[in-house]
Amino acid sequence: MKEEYCLCHLATGDMLRAAVAAKTPLGIKAKEAMDKGELVSDELVVGIIDEAIKKPSCEKGFILDGFPRTVVQAKKLDAMLEKQGVKVDKVLNFEIADSVLEERITGRWIHPASGRSYHTKFAPPKVPGIDDVTGEVLVQRKDDNANVLRSRLAAFHKQTKPVIDHYKQKGVVNTLHAEKSAKAVTEEIKEALG
Ligand code: AMP
Repeated sequence: MKEEYCLCHLATGDMLRAAVAAKTPLGIKAKEAMDKGELVSDELVVGIIDEAIKKPSCEKGFILDGFPRTVVQAKKLDAMLEKQGVKVDKVLNFEIADSVLEERITGRWIHPASGRSYHTKFAPPKVPGIDDVTGEVLVQRKDDNANVLRSRLAAFHKQTKPVIDHYKQKGVVNTLHAEKSAKAVTEEIKEALG
């Protein structure tokens, strides 16, 4: 999507993990909540996004990934965009049963530098634990385990689901069948984006 539509990809989770790894003041503030699978404060993530969307690479538009996660964040985002004379064009709602997620999440391995992700069963790398493209080692996210996933899902149902209703009222939500294969979901994304 990023390449096809010349957009920048802003993933708050990736930005926060980089800040935690670099032990920046932002990372130090965010770490505790992230380790527990809870959301970090709205103020913190809104600040990150406010700064990021002003970058020249985001001029043509951006994909927000993992943001907004609360209605407060959504309203602040809408206000920020309004100031720039733009708005959220499309919301892709990847709908999936919680029960399907545990196997997907606990088998996931990531190549942090590129964001490529693999799955031990569904999308294994050619050599176990190694990125196909660079030959570098893959890592598992600290919060990609069944225990922390329970808190992440609880946060999703309580705090993030209302964000979908917020954007449904604006008529911009496309709901996708995320339990299908990666190939089928890719087709649904293309159709939703037109
Ligand atoms: P993710 O990579 O999107 O799964 O995010 C990993 C963790 O980062 C989440 O469990 C939260 O602790 C934190 N996080 C990421 N994005 C947000 C957000 N928009 N609001 C609050 N916390 C966030």
